[in-house]
Amino acid sequence: MFLPRLPMGILMLHFGKLSHNLLPTRTALTSKGYSGDLNCCVCSESVETLEHLFRDCSIAKDILGAPPFSLPSSPLTWKEWLLDRASNLSTSLFDKLLVLLWSFWKNRNEKLWKNQSQTSPRLVASSMAWYEEYLQANKPCTIATSVQQKASKLWLALG
Ligand SMILES: [Zn+2]
Repeated sequence: MFLPRLPMGILMLHFGKLSHNLLPTRTALTSKGYSGDLNCCVCSESVETLEHLFRDCSIAKDILGAPPFSLPSSPLTWKEWLLDRASNLSTSLFDKLLVLLWSFWKNRNEKLWKNQSQTSPRLVASSMAWYEEYLQANKPCTIATSVQQKASKLWLALG
């Protein structure tokens, strides 16, 4: 299994970090003295920012530009974009988006440390399989209204 079995809460903690620009992207590391290559570990075609890695990188564009997301390219910053998605996507699509973003980060690390990367169909398949398992395992928790769920998720995502 490509994705680890993690509770959604842990996933959300990671997104709290993402929202605060604390994930060690190459650009973020420059403020800590990193002076190496700034280009994206996955495509090498652009500077590795959160916006690039999770939205504008070729694999992210491939997946998020296709149904069910069909997201157009966007000039928004990472945080604005995530907020915008939270208010415009349905709860289940937003959940899927978070799972996919997590898989983009994992894919980037596999590429960086092991020089292995997934194709976009494989990334989607493994992410969605993980998501379905998560839903099956957490059925009793889905009683809360979707608005409440989304609000609490957004709260967590923004730390
Ligand atoms: Zn890239």
